[in-house]
Amino acid sequence: MTLHIPFDNSYAALPEAFYTRLDPTPVSAPAMLVWNEGLARDLGISAPDAEIFAGNTVPDGAAPLAQLYAGHQFGTYNPQLGDGRAILLGEVLDTDGVRRDIQLKGSGPTPYSRMGDGRAWLGPVLREYVVSEAMHALGIPTTRALAAVATGDPVYREQGALPGAVLTRVAASHLRVGTFQIFANRGHMEELRTLTDYAITRHWPEADGPMGLLAAVCAAQAELVTAWMSVGFIHGVMNTDNCTISGETIDYGPCAFLDAYAEGRVFSSIDQMGRYAYGNQPRIAVWNMAQLATALIQLFDDKEQAVEQATEIVHAMPGQLQAAWLRRFGAKVGLANATEEDQPLIEDLLALMQAQGADFTNTFAALGTDSARDQFTDRDAFDQWATRWQARAPDAALMAKTNPQLIPRNHRIEAMIEAAVAGDMAPFERLMTGLSKPYVKTDPDLHRPPTKQEIVPATFCGT
Ligand code: AMP
Ligand code: MG
Repeated sequence: MTLHIPFDNSYAALPEAFYTRLDPTPVSAPAMLVWNEGLARDLGISAPDAEIFAGNTVPDGAAPLAQLYAGHQFGTYNPQLGDGRAILLGEVLDTDGVRRDIQLKGSGPTPYSRMGDGRAWLGPVLREYVVSEAMHALGIPTTRALAAVATGDPVYREQGALPGAVLTRVAASHLRVGTFQIFANRGHMEELRTLTDYAITRHWPEADGPMGLLAAVCAAQAELVTAWMSVGFIHGVMNTDNCTISGETIDYGPCAFLDAYAEGRVFSSIDQMGRYAYGNQPRIAVWNMAQLATALIQLFDDKEQAVEQATEIVHAMPGQLQAAWLRRFGAKVGLANATEEDQPLIEDLLALMQAQGADFTNTFAALGTDSARDQFTDRDAFDQWATRWQARAPDAALMAKTNPQLIPRNHRIEAMIEAAVAGDMAPFERLMTGLSKPYVKTDPDLHRPPTKQEIVPATFCGT
């Protein structure tokens, strides 16, 4: 019996300049490790099939290809990147009629692999699985994880030989800022125009031309990054090739969640300058949108006017970010219509948290209960803040649906990976169960911040 996937491919119908057609590279011994039943149902995919999701069998209707793109990495332009270890199998229309990409990640080398082996090991695959699904449950736009398959082949990284795995990633699309940059920078105007039309049709059908597209993506990215901020998420590699046109979070490499609140917190071991620090993310989102603007401007004959329009759109972003921040952080302290006058109240709480190393998630989750003040060493200072806050009559129901009880804590992810490598998937299952209902307090031990010994100081790309 062969598995049926109802493919309906649009990217593969674009000109050859956008990709290289090739099949995934087979692996030795595919074994299904995790299968996302609910997502599979939404996509109309009937059953798990390790051969397909390891890349050993190309299913009927697939049009496998590696996508071409470029991107700014840590502020420096890399003129050619592309899927170096991913293959887009094709697209399906989900039960809501939304077109979704089905992509294998870790599926073997492509013409864009450069020095890489085209593979992934189990650790980053399960990390992406857990964190992307947790983000979805938190209500944050994100790519999803459909399957994780063990390959039976070793992958060699700094740590030595590690078990190989393939992730099936599902996305609204894999169009990135870098997809626009590559054609703009090569002066390939026809492709840039085709891509712009494709992106508008697929994601932002209301958008009027390239400037409408730019405005839509700016608004979506402002909302996305603020959603990250509100749950203490640090992406870690906000390069323009990891910045989507759809407004979904993509590429869970060295990402991490805040434990103790610190605005300048960085986890990624390769982010030496703190470019992608927690508090810097809104600024970087604007920077990334300026790169998209630069690419789209190429489409206009009247460059001066296009620059003027694009500048106005990008310059509107800080205001959008600020409004979104006030709405989200206002809700976190129970204020439905927070205004600029409420901002000091919120900022003062964050400053107290930072000065006293209070846990970001647990402090907000506990606000209004006695255990909130336990997060602070100087309880008088907190009590003074709480008195001011109570005077604003916070809405407890609003707080309950805004402040997650559970996030995927870094030390839990590390422990989960260690167990999985040793063949024990129980910690993975436990995390997934808890994280599927992040606004409910279910598993007290999973809510606990790391002890000093458990703190994960840095996350590694090591992917
Ligand atoms: P990322 O940091 O995952 O966004 O990757 C940046 C670029 O490096 C992308 O073009 C990836 O496809 C490529 N890449 C990352 N890891 C590998 C690998 N193991 N083999 C080949 N290409 C890779
Ligand atoms: Mg990437």
